[in-house]
Amino acid sequence: MSHAPHIVVVGSGPIGSAYARVILESHPTARVTMFEAGPQLTEIPGQSVRNIEDPAAKERAREMSQGPQAGALRESLGIPAGVVVEGMFTARQGTHLLDFGGDGSAHASTFPAAAAATNVGGQGAHWTCAIPRPAFSEKVPFIPDEEWEGLIEAAESLLHAQRAAFSDSAIGSAIRTLLDAEFGAELPEGYGVGTLPVAGDPQPDGSMRWAGADVVLGPLIEAGDPLAERFTLRDLSLVRRVEHDGTRATGVVVEDLRTREVSTVDADVVVVAADAFRSPQLLWASGIRPSALGRYLTEHHVVITTVALDGERMGSLVSDDQLDVELARRAQHAADPVAAVNRIPFSEPDHPFSLQVMYAENPPFQLDPDSPHAGNRWGYVNMGYGVRKHPRAEDGVTFSDDELDYRGLPNMTIEYALTDAENGEIAEATERLRRAGGALGAFVAPPRLLPNGSSLHYMGTMRMGETDDGSSVADPYSRVWGFENLVVGGNALIPTANTMNPTLMSVAIAVRGARHIAAGLTAD
Ligand code: FAD
Repeated sequence: MSHAPHIVVVGSGPIGSAYARVILESHPTARVTMFEAGPQLTEIPGQSVRNIEDPAAKERAREMSQGPQAGALRESLGIPAGVVVEGMFTARQGTHLLDFGGDGSAHASTFPAAAAATNVGGQGAHWTCAIPRPAFSEKVPFIPDEEWEGLIEAAESLLHAQRAAFSDSAIGSAIRTLLDAEFGAELPEGYGVGTLPVAGDPQPDGSMRWAGADVVLGPLIEAGDPLAERFTLRDLSLVRRVEHDGTRATGVVVEDLRTREVSTVDADVVVVAADAFRSPQLLWASGIRPSALGRYLTEHHVVITTVALDGERMGSLVSDDQLDVELARRAQHAADPVAAVNRIPFSEPDHPFSLQVMYAENPPFQLDPDSPHAGNRWGYVNMGYGVRKHPRAEDGVTFSDDELDYRGLPNMTIEYALTDAENGEIAEATERLRRAGGALGAFVAPPRLLPNGSSLHYMGTMRMGETDDGSSVADPYSRVWGFENLVVGGNALIPTANTMNPTLMSVAIAVRGARHIAAGLTAD
């Protein structure tokens, strides 16, 4: 190739960022331009808003993540009010519901909690940072184990994986002891109660600096680093279309949301990593419509509860002094309530679930001051079982050629249903959650199944496959079937039924795709 190859990446979340980083580190002259529809929230692009100490600044960053249509940002851009989202139903802070009920809203009554984040760093600016490895049938069956291990390690390094976060917490350790007494004998070797791997860097004072797309981008956003010279990030830039000739992508059509100027940007490779709903939407809008596009939608269903830790049981494992030390340490970081993270991972055949147990000083909701559990000195755990959804072609998102959404793209309709298989596993998980809660203390909120979409881990809508048999969108290197240089990324690629938080797996798949792109460019 006589000129420096130009790669366009659509979306600045952890996956788009992994593509940018791996391609630039693997190729000596390539340039990457990343387009992001939302605004930059933090001085360092893509940081986790959880690291913002000031509550008002954190609130503002979360509001801005609702994209060009959000409050203050919307007004500054002169866009009329009406598309309000956060806090409605179950949209979590920093995200906006796809089905918000206003003009141009998606239709998602069977998947009502589906939400997205529109900001530099994507959902990765708001995420909980849990990064368990997929196991057993959760893994991609056609990527060899030995290679997979290396990809996962590369992904863990990009995300600053931390296996022993808060492992020095005496309370966290007591929670593990109690859960192990309840479940340990039923769990296979290596898949018992343990700490939950997370993405972030422990600080000397025992707190965490949570990872966002910033750590994935790494040197690309460090002033003076040679890689930074070959990387451009453009926020408030909405990609409206991928240009192509049917077998090759040639560039993208981008709208600058500040000026409303629309331009075409040429590219040698286009990577679409714009989340599991908006990536297939962009392909559809571009006339790229493989039969599996948008189909096979999965998530993991979530059965959750909140439990007040039992003073007597905790007191037998943790001394008063240890408790005081933890409370004092946590008081320094009131803005980041999580203080210990534990889990029981997925294993087969007998434990096809993933339990996560987050310990915090306060419950995640306002507790009636008269409740016997209010002000529990030992604190609370929020815990939930992830329950898998088996992929089926009938679950998914369709796009309309006649009705446009609020961004002017083909509007979405999500159709999704639970089967007997899922309902059976949800019932079993609920029973286990009762046992887990009983082992730790008293229920402050009873175990309950969250509405479909609540996991925010939407998968399968651009699944990868081993062969082009109509049940997948992308090849084993994440290239859209039939295209040499159009690559898709994100949780949408995951073809399996799984219970874990998917970002680590999607970054691992992205590392494979990015290395393949870089190798192809070198060969050229
Ligand atoms: P995203 O992070 O969603 O980024 C996609 C970006 O593309 C967005 O910024 C969007 O604005 C942009 N975009 C979309 N369309 C366009 C367009 N046409 N043009 C330009 N840009 C576009 N995952 C875990 O693994 N562990 C967790 O503990 C966890 N907790 C979570 C907690 C919360 C509250 C949330 C919101 C998410 C959580 N997740 C978690 C999910 C995790 O954040 C996502 O899996 C991850 O961010 C996906 O990365 P991505 O790059 O594929 O997509």
